Amino acid sequence: MAIIKLLSEEIINKIAAGEVIERPASVVKELIENSLDAGAGSIRVEIKNSGQDLIKVTDDGQGMDEEDARNSILPHATSKLASVEDLYSLQTLGFRGEALASIAAVSQLAIITKPKGKLEGFNLVAEGGSMVSCGIIAADQGTTVEVRNLFYNTPARKKFLKTEAVELRHIIEVLTHYALFNNHIAFKLIHDNHQLINSPALIDMRDNIASIYGIGLAKDLLEVNYKDEGVIVSGYVAKPSRARNDKSQQALFVNGRWVKNNDINKAVYEAFHSLLMVGKHPIFVLSITINPQKIDVNVHPQKLEIKFEQTEKVFSAAFNSVRESLQRNNLIPIVDEIYPQFNIGLGKNIFKYNFERSTQTIFPSENNLSPTEDSLTWAGVNPLLLGEEINSHNNDSDVFKDAAAVIQSNNHHLSSKEFSPIFFPSMKILGQIHKTFFAAETEGGVFFLDQHAVHERILYEKFMNQFMNSEVKIQSLLQGEIINFTPAEKILVLEHKTELSRLGFNLEEFGDSTFVIKTVPLIFGRLQHSQTIQEVVSTLLEKQNSIEMLKEEIITRMACRAAVMAGEELTVSRFETLVQELSLTRLPYTCPHGRPSLFKITSEELEKKFKRRG
Ligand code: ADP
Ligand code: MG
Repeated sequence: MAIIKLLSEEIINKIAAGEVIERPASVVKELIENSLDAGAGSIRVEIKNSGQDLIKVTDDGQGMDEEDARNSILPHATSKLASVEDLYSLQTLGFRGEALASIAAVSQLAIITKPKGKLEGFNLVAEGGSMVSCGIIAADQGTTVEVRNLFYNTPARKKFLKTEAVELRHIIEVLTHYALFNNHIAFKLIHDNHQLINSPALIDMRDNIASIYGIGLAKDLLEVNYKDEGVIVSGYVAKPSRARNDKSQQALFVNGRWVKNNDINKAVYEAFHSLLMVGKHPIFVLSITINPQKIDVNVHPQKLEIKFEQTEKVFSAAFNSVRESLQRNNLIPIVDEIYPQFNIGLGKNIFKYNFERSTQTIFPSENNLSPTEDSLTWAGVNPLLLGEEINSHNNDSDVFKDAAAVIQSNNHHLSSKEFSPIFFPSMKILGQIHKTFFAAETEGGVFFLDQHAVHERILYEKFMNQFMNSEVKIQSLLQGEIINFTPAEKILVLEHKTELSRLGFNLEEFGDSTFVIKTVPLIFGRLQHSQTIQEVVSTLLEKQNSIEMLKEEIITRMACRAAVMAGEELTVSRFETLVQELSLTRLPYTCPHGRPSLFKITSEELEKKFKRRG
């Protein structure tokens, strides 16, 4: 029975027709989507010359009868959409009836297909969109679409193609994504007779991801499983220690459709934030399931983008789902080997400390506050500061009150859920090493802690908490500091005056583009204020965003600047207080940049080193 119908003019006009086929990878994508829509259990893609000479996709799906096969290459012919309403309840990947027609128009196309139950198959050959021959043929159930000499009749478009390697990369990207999501379907990619991808049908999603992104990843994948107000988020994220320098291992699917969506990506990054090193990108494979009526899939020619009715809701579901999964898992790194290499999988640079200030600070400090123990106060005292009393950090109960408050009201970001503090091991601080690290005895081994990272984490969470509750404690400057801006910056400063004051910086206009700094945040007393404000302003200028959006970045920098540096001497008792505060933070195991704040060497490891065990 024929199931393909020509779309009415009304529907055609509704559909944002566009350049569906811009490169070989677009052909591969459309053909794979058709195979998936046809219920295939196995999809084999063979290409020659990065798809420019040949793209052949074979599936074992439902196939087409003769009439459908003939209709399939006509423009706007589809079996997937009958009315305008259907567009809003789509269960299929295709819906425009455009792909085969567009591909046929710019190539030499052949279709061999046989539906279930039929004895013989049907074969059709077209050139430049017109059928040149057809007939009965022996075939297996399913469909093979063969596309030869893509763009042979549109030399201009052919010229636009990038190098073979680039085109091949795009094809691999398409295959990889569909193989990632459809673990129960087998995928193969063969390029110039070499098998590039062989992804068998697997029951388990984790195995499937590992088979594609690398077997070693399996043990570092954290499951994401979240449901909130009609949005389901499932899939996996890799531990932060697996983060990459590129974004190549990130995949997002909405209702089974591979999509690119910056808002959701941002939510995922935000959930990871402060667990990731600067410039690192998390690995994730996430699938969002949402009522099809709440999304518009028809906004992009390649159907790669979608619009959500309630972006905020989806955004916060994505954030919460990933955050929850990271919290659920203990992220403390354990050392595999002691010497010669510290290998905790977080990148090479982490342990390259030279015991100099500069290696630990992102922003070199000009004004070296003398690092004696007495001058090192938590908030730091600047002689110019006046006003509210500095927290006395010899007073432990105050410290704990502060820290407990951080935990209690730490529902910042988008999260509506309270996160309970995660388990923090007890330890006995033994002493400082090279004025940079501390060693501590703990059950089953030894901890090494990084004093800068520890303090940074505490300051970050304390300040973020104050900021989110709009109760940043401020100090007035006895002598207002003068700060100059460029005209563009001045406009920005005036525009963000309220937000800056929320950060604790109150500025008063002093003529031209000069301002006086009246107050600064109490907790960051050690900062050089004009430099910090300058930085905040240039971040605003560069990113063209609000402080609210950039708060993580800004506060991370401030915490980094204000934290004790490597090279500063600290007593055991002072560090004990720091560790107590650390234990009350939400994410004690890393600094806000994502570097580890502590790691463990197990007693077993020590025993091995001393040849007490084999
Ligand atoms: P769409 O997928 O948007 O419907 P296409 O031009 O991609 O439009 O395909 C047109 C029609 O051809 C589909 O609706 C489907 O009925 C049929 N078709 C295409 N590829 C296959 C396939 N691999 N197996 C079965 N039917 C197919
Ligand atoms: Mg299609």
